[in-house]
Amino acid sequence: DVPTDPRAKVKRCLRLFQVISRQLLQEVESGKKLPDMEINRIDLRTAKILGELNETLNRDKPVVGLVPGVEVGDEYRYRAELSVLGLHRPPQAGIDYTMWNGIHIATSIVASGGYSDDMENENVLIYTGAGGKPTGKTGHTEPEDQKLKRGNLALKNSIETKTPVRVIHGQSTSNSGKVVMTFTYDGLYRVEKYWREKETYMVKGEPKTVAVFKFRLKRLEGQPELNWSKLKKVQRSKVREGLCFKDISLGKEKLPICVINTIDNKNPRQFQYITKTVYPAWYQKTRPKGCTCKGPCSDPKTCSCAVKNGGQIPFNFNGAIVKAKRLIYECGPMCGCPPSCYNRVSQHGIKYPLEVFKTEKRGWGVRSLSSIPSGSFVCEYIGELLRDREAEQRTNDEYLFDIGHNYDDSALWEGLLSDDGIITDEVGAPSSEEGYTIDALERGNVGRFINHSCSPNLYAQDVLFDHDDKKMPHVMFFACENIPPLKELTYHYNYGIGAVRGSDGSVKVKECYCGASECKGRLY
Ligand code: SAM
Repeated sequence: DVPTDPRAKVKRCLRLFQVISRQLLQEVESGKKLPDMEINRIDLRTAKILGELNETLNRDKPVVGLVPGVEVGDEYRYRAELSVLGLHRPPQAGIDYTMWNGIHIATSIVASGGYSDDMENENVLIYTGAGGKPTGKTGHTEPEDQKLKRGNLALKNSIETKTPVRVIHGQSTSNSGKVVMTFTYDGLYRVEKYWREKETYMVKGEPKTVAVFKFRLKRLEGQPELNWSKLKKVQRSKVREGLCFKDISLGKEKLPICVINTIDNKNPRQFQYITKTVYPAWYQKTRPKGCTCKGPCSDPKTCSCAVKNGGQIPFNFNGAIVKAKRLIYECGPMCGCPPSCYNRVSQHGIKYPLEVFKTEKRGWGVRSLSSIPSGSFVCEYIGELLRDREAEQRTNDEYLFDIGHNYDDSALWEGLLSDDGIITDEVGAPSSEEGYTIDALERGNVGRFINHSCSPNLYAQDVLFDHDDKKMPHVMFFACENIPPLKELTYHYNYGIGAVRGSDGSVKVKECYCGASECKGRLY
């Protein structure tokens, strides 16, 4: 169903973008060239596909001010994502503008100098006008004086019209030698003044001085603080406010998981931190056969694990899951490939700096100190494995995860399009015989602290690698959107409203405090 809520519409559009771009990336990684593209730009090709599917937003009528459904702090990997939302339409230009009451005004700018370089202080941005820069790394063209036309003129006009301008920061970070861009929506600003000044560029080793325009933009009051600036404060502070434990995993995870409570003076209830699910004594693991590949698996036709995945390695080379599937087979201990094989992702454990924190109304929750790109593996749900009927006997049901019911997360991925219409496929759908549940009350990992949201940013993916039993796959959480730092991580618990009953048969009610615009009000 096409959502009507503006936030849900934005999320749907971005999810489509991300799923399609990851599929295209997979094609490019396998050596294919993208159709009707002069250069292999998956972002531009994805935007084009979304346009053809009529799945872009706000493209017909440019928006002045707030774009419905876009929130301060939202993150993007590609400029084209800004474009498909109508947040900032041009694929390259830094200033977007439109005709408004007879004059051109600026609607949005992308400040790509990195958050700290562009900001005079937390609320004031100094933006350099467009044009005149030498192009190419070594300076193929001479720099020129900037002209007061197009975007520059529109920004100047916005001083008089007092119309707000959306600001998006572009930040490049290096990740294992690769430059990764992140664009963050910073909210609405007003252009206060502009002036001309001299700027010097090095061209072929020679300094060249030209005139540029500078615009001073002030952030409108009453908007939420950016998580990036909150994070800066955290990084600058010597002692972390509200620190309860430095590492709740007691060294068992590769990265420490600290516990922060700035709400009250309570600690989390005691439990044993484990990093591997505890199987019942009666359970005999059956080792999967494993592939016979030598070196990282690359040929989906010969790798038997890829064949089980429907003839595909389900991950991009950067470890992002291409699309949600009922069940994914990673390579495992019996395979011939090394640990660096692309078909081994979630088995390697946590790689984002997670922390447990006290929320206002949902008890403890989990967040990351760094951005998590859509498609990334976050963590597993680990605990004691029980038969459903044993789980039903447990008096505390707060940390139960019913395996096999997570794929009912239909709103997250059903109807999302691929070549064949749907991004999910039915490979290895679990049988409906006896069900299993993971209980993380007494023994568990960080996954036990992840709360429910009616508009989640993670989804639970069933994965097999060290045994072949489809009835008890590993429950692995992957990001289904780009997640900014310090944003709470959530998944959809998938309880039916009215479907949870107490031991006396009466319907149990639990209110939901996820705060999403499309919140149903109840967990069950
Ligand atoms: N918040 C838990 C804690 O403090 O340990 C961690 C999550 S635990 C798996 C599930 C429980 O968290 C639920 O039974 C409920 O009490 C609470 N919870 C999770 N999501 C919630 C939400 N959206 N609204 C209200 N309570 C929530």
